[in-house]
This record gives sequence, structure tokens and C-alpha cells, in this order.
Amino acid sequence: MNPTPPDLPTPRRLSAATTVVGVIGDPIAHSLSPRLHNAAFAALGLDWVSVGFPVAEGRAGDALAGARALGVRGLSVTMPHKEAVAGLVDRCTPRAERLGAVNCVVFGEEATVGDNTDGPGLVAALRRGAGFETAGRRCLVVGGGGAARSVVAALADGGAAEVVIVNRTPERATAAAALAAPVGRVGVPADASQCDLVVNATPIGMAGPDRDGPTTWPIDPMLLEGGQVVVDLVYHPLVTPWMEAAGRRGARVVNGLGMLVHQAALQLAAWTGLEPPVEVMWKAVDGGPSSG
Ligand code: NAP
Repeated sequence: MNPTPPDLPTPRRLSAATTVVGVIGDPIAHSLSPRLHNAAFAALGLDWVSVGFPVAEGRAGDALAGARALGVRGLSVTMPHKEAVAGLVDRCTPRAERLGAVNCVVFGEEATVGDNTDGPGLVAALRRGAGFETAGRRCLVVGGGGAARSVVAALADGGAAEVVIVNRTPERATAAAALAAPVGRVGVPADASQCDLVVNATPIGMAGPDRDGPTTWPIDPMLLEGGQVVVDLVYHPLVTPWMEAAGRRGARVVNGLGMLVHQAALQLAAWTGLEPPVEVMWKAVDGGPSSG
């Protein structure tokens, strides 16, 4: 009898020479990042391993110091540490500096560097999975949190003609719009009908409309139509009620799995200097460009 559950990878021979990377966060047990990284390491024939490190809020400094001392090559950083780590590394890349948030740490010989690959991950996923090129396009992002901010900055960096931000808290919408200057502005949900790309970077696409009607959707699906690409950054579930509603309107619907895969692929490139095997990484999370 094989005691290994079917969804676990075949154990590799780890040794004292194995290079370690990890993901820090809390909670961490359900993170898909080690699975993505390990699939890539195996495909590249690297003696590297990625593991999850549960790190409580407020302990990111200890985690970075410990990882550095132990020769860990890199860290993926998730909630609740992204902002804290931006202040703990020796230096940030310009995009991480601008966002004040880090999701990727590289322990170099000279310095510990923090980067943010979340937004670029979505832009890469859209190009690969939906054939969507950001340059010259009108985009709308719902949300003003960490994910929204990284997406807004990446869309502007990708040459978007306009990046409109809609968020419950106006001050956070204004702050997010500033990240996309000069093409960013605060907007209203109705602006979605004029946009090529609509991204929901809030958790509310999972709820669906309640007794108060469709105002609880990120964007009323009646404002969406064929020819638009509509993204919900959520990937659990793979299809949210809002995505279903947008799909019924004829929009090309994309979930958050592609962003997850591509942000991990960019981390892998930063740590190894190698071209990441994106197709293999997609397969590791049972997806494919068509599902993301
Ligand atoms: P966050 O920093 O906590 O921000 C949450 C955002 O959602 C805020 O703008 C908040 O508005 C808004 N929001 C929350 N509840 C709301 C409600 N009931 N009505 C209206 N707006 C509401 O979270 P985050 O890290 O940005 O994550 C946002 C979403 O993206 C999550 O669903 C997360 O799972 C997903 N995500 C996906 C990936 C990926 O790789 N696919 C990566 C990161 C995040 P206020 O500003 O008004 O509070």
C-alpha cells in the first residue's frame, strides 16, 4: 500500500546540499506556493525545495533574520506580512517601494532585496491566458487593498490608457489612483461599461446579490458585456457567482489562479535567474491558461 496521499508530490531526495526557499504567512498550511515552486524546481532539475513557514503577525523581522542566517535563498511573503517586510529588507525594487509592500524576498550576497510580483503576475497571466495586452487599454479595478494596489500599478506600468479605481472607502481609492498617475483616476461603477478590462480585487464577488439587490456585486453585471475581459482575483472557488453573472453577459471571464501562478513564476525567476516553466506550474495547481 502506498501511504502517500495522491495529491502530494513524490518525495524527492533532499540533502544537506539542498537549497531552501519558503513562504511566510499566517495562516500558511493551505498556501499553494510551495507546490508551484517545487513543481518548477523538479522540472528544472534543481536540488531546491520550497516549504511553508507559519509566521505570526509581528514576527516577520525574526523570520527574515533567521532565514538569512540559515542560508535560505528566498522567501515568498503573504498575509499579514507584505507591508512589514517592505520595511525590513535592505532595499526594495522601485515597484515594491512604490507599493510599500513586498511579496518576494531575495537573499543576495550583498543585500536582501524585496520585490512585488503580484500585479506583474496578473498582467502576465492576462497576456498568456486571455491574449489581453494592457497597452492602450481602458481598465477598471474594484478595491483599494494590497491586491488592488499592485494591480493598479502594474496596469499603469503596462501602458494602460486609463486605470479607473472604484472602492468602498474613498480615501483608499484616491491613494490607489495615485499609484497609476497620470492615467489613474477615481471612478464610479458605471465607468465599467466603457472599459476593456474589469478587475475585482475584493472578496465580494463570492457573495452574490442579497436582498438589497445587485448593488452588492463588485460591479453590476448589467454594466458588463461581450468584448470585455472580466477578472475576479479570487481562485477559491474557481468561479464566483459574480464571474458566472459576467459570463452570462458574454464577457471573457478570468479567475485569480493565473495571477497566483505567474507571481510565483516571477519569484522563481528572481531566485534562480532561470526561465520559469510556467506550463508545469499551471499543471501543478490543476489549472491551465483556459481556466485562469
Ligand atoms: P485587502 O487588502 O483586505 O483589501 C480588501 C478590499 O476589498 C478593500 O478595498 C476593501 O474595501 C474591499 N472590501 C472588502 N469587503 C468589502 C465589502 N463588503 N464591500 C465593499 N468592499 C469591500 O485584501 P487584498 O489582499 O487586497 O485581497 C483582495 C482579494 O484579492 C481577496 O479576495 C484575495 O483573495 C484576492 N487576492 C488574490 C491573489 C491572487 O494571486 N489571485 C493575490 C492577492 C489577493 P475598503 O478599502 O473600503 O476596506
